[in-house]
Amino acid sequence: MLFSNPSLPLPLEKEGKEVNYVGRFAPSPTGPLHFGSLITAVASYCDAKAHQGLWHVRIEDTDIPRIYPGSEEHILHAIDSFELFPDSDIIFQKDRLDIYEDVIQQLHKKNMVYACQCTRKMLGSNHIYAGACRDLALPFHDQAIRVKVSNDDICFQDHLQGQHCSNLKTDLGDFVLKRRDGIINYQLAVVVDDFLQGMTHVVRGADLLDNTERQIWLGQLLDYPRLEYIHLPLAMNDQGQKLSKQNMAQALDLSKPSELLQQALHALKQPAVELDQPHKMLQQAVAQWNLDLIPHRTHLDGVFI
Ligand code: GLU
Repeated sequence: MLFSNPSLPLPLEKEGKEVNYVGRFAPSPTGPLHFGSLITAVASYCDAKAHQGLWHVRIEDTDIPRIYPGSEEHILHAIDSFELFPDSDIIFQKDRLDIYEDVIQQLHKKNMVYACQCTRKMLGSNHIYAGACRDLALPFHDQAIRVKVSNDDICFQDHLQGQHCSNLKTDLGDFVLKRRDGIINYQLAVVVDDFLQGMTHVVRGADLLDNTERQIWLGQLLDYPRLEYIHLPLAMNDQGQKLSKQNMAQALDLSKPSELLQQALHALKQPAVELDQPHKMLQQAVAQWNLDLIPHRTHLDGVFI
């Protein structure tokens, strides 16, 4: 597998033709891929390909303390095993930290960020940041960096979940873009890379719905174009929890990729696909892809492991 130069913008055309859809799968290596992540990978791939679009893979590995040893290799191996071939070299966010720092500087020039010395404990029980450091003009060195938010409703129309709105001021307050320990926050990295990679569509789990208004806000501040959002219903375990690395969801068994693909398409309520080589199954899945068949809810029925 080849990896790209982190600063290069990626091509927005395929075989000389302009594309109208660019999508991605952007796992964090905080554990091996589980069935819930497979659902996201398959849905993001099929939706992009059903629109003759491009599909990229990005490893979101800025939060170094949360990286689980070996999970990056497992993710890359899984993508190969499912024959989910991306249209560009895979990028790794940890190689792009200078780019995110530059964007913080751009926001600084617009007077939209500030250094903050408040600890999480100081936020109080509702976790809403009231802006205590907004006007202190603290030096940026060794402090968390927060972005200012406004007292307006930000709304978007999700293709599966319908309209979703948040007032960032009253729901959250100015939020952190860079932690005091220097770690770039997911919200910033995701927005910058979605822009630099020319994304048009974000397909991901409904657990990230509540992050979207923050990302739209950052995109607005940076004059990036708005994206389309498709938040998929989540696969749940027998305790009623979403499958996640924290809940010890089982790692995908990469010796049976075709069977797992069939199950993922079934969970997404897509027409059945015959067992075959994963790539052939994906071709059939793309030909039959119908986003509307996916339940328009935040959770899938049934129990998954
Ligand atoms: N890296 C995030 C995760 O693994 C997904 C980010 C996104 O799709 O926007 O949960």
